[in-house]
Amino acid sequence: MMTSVKGFKDIYGEELKLFKIAKNVLEEIAENFAYEEIITPVVEYSELFERSVGIDTDIVEKEMYTFMDKSGRNITLRPEITASIARSYIEHHFETKPLPLKFYYFGPCFRYEKPQKGRYRGFYQYGVEAIGDDSPLLDAEVIYIGYSIAKKLELKNVSVKINSIGCRKCRTTYKEKLKEILEPHYDDLCEDCKRRFYTNPLRILDCKKEVPDLKRSLPKIIDYLCEDCRKHFDNVLDYLQKMSIPYEIDDTLVRGLDYYTRTVFEVVSSDLGAQNALLGGGRYDYLIEELGGRPTPAVGFALGMERLVEIMKSQGFSVRNKQLIYVAYQQSAFERAIFIAEALRNYGFKVLLDVKNGNFKNQTERSSKRNAEFTVFIGEEEVNTNTVTVKNMKNKAQTKVELANLDGFFKERKNV
Ligand code: AMP
Repeated sequence: MMTSVKGFKDIYGEELKLFKIAKNVLEEIAENFAYEEIITPVVEYSELFERSVGIDTDIVEKEMYTFMDKSGRNITLRPEITASIARSYIEHHFETKPLPLKFYYFGPCFRYEKPQKGRYRGFYQYGVEAIGDDSPLLDAEVIYIGYSIAKKLELKNVSVKINSIGCRKCRTTYKEKLKEILEPHYDDLCEDCKRRFYTNPLRILDCKKEVPDLKRSLPKIIDYLCEDCRKHFDNVLDYLQKMSIPYEIDDTLVRGLDYYTRTVFEVVSSDLGAQNALLGGGRYDYLIEELGGRPTPAVGFALGMERLVEIMKSQGFSVRNKQLIYVAYQQSAFERAIFIAEALRNYGFKVLLDVKNGNFKNQTERSSKRNAEFTVFIGEEEVNTNTVTVKNMKNKAQTKVELANLDGFFKERKNV
């Protein structure tokens, strides 16, 4: 049997309905915060991710779908979208527009990860980015957007975790201190962390495999922040308080990508299991500069759609289906049936026209199998009297309705 590629999945039925409801809410919230949509290509030159996400990260080392195109270009299916937006910002000289620029995006991403609950090789990300200003108010604003999503969808059991990983200056001091303390324990580290010890020791903090006792004994990065970074972080927290957003400082939160500076945060849900981050983000003040642009501070987050839908499903989010009207007809009344189906669709109803035709009994059975709320019957008599017969499929009541009153009849009975 043909199947979808490992780690990729079809989205359909109820799940797709939740997906679409969520997508509408996400787009509406971003628009209401005056963020503008941007669509970037699903492929980029591999170098973009090597230089932004970082050569020593799991994503670039193990997870990218990279290939040569027919002209020998080194291409990658995007593992995330922030890097593309930074590339786009530089390429189109967005710095000439009034700053900060605010974007949101939605689209598929690809990572060759080990598939498990909440982790796929093909998944959808939504995210927001505020580019061109280092104000802590923007850090708080993007967290506010994340929090508003959870509130609007009435998600329970979610919380905001936040940390600061400082700037080039203070992070370097902290990394050295970390290595000094970890060195005697080097042999106890997992294989990944042995490598990280040299390439990116900060990542050892959020490794799930490391011994908790050892992790607890490590110094906290917020105690090593320089004065500017400390002040910035305090201001972010102050804004969050003023916005009534509850948060928890998590000093093991460092996030996996190289480009983050200062604020890092996640919105986590206890309903998600091991992969508990619904969204994650932070400030990335050096990214645009490192990709060849001017020094440009920025902050944003990315949210995983599959995880959002998973939470909605597990919390019993109910989908309100549009009522279905089934049109049954005698062959001689076919043209009238087409006309009425079209009129009902134009009034905004969901209409299914019977395909097989035949007698009304069989058509009614098919209507019932489709869970239609109403069946509209059109026979010769109805054609001659400019009426239809409407059967309420729940209480079986039948009513003759004049064509001129069709719209009003169904609108009065919306979702009965
Ligand atoms: P990241 O870009 O790794 O910071 O991830 C941001 C968000 O994207 C996460 O919080 C998840 O919700 C989602 N995400 C990341 N990787 C995957 C994946 N492999 N499958 C599903 N969702 C993912």
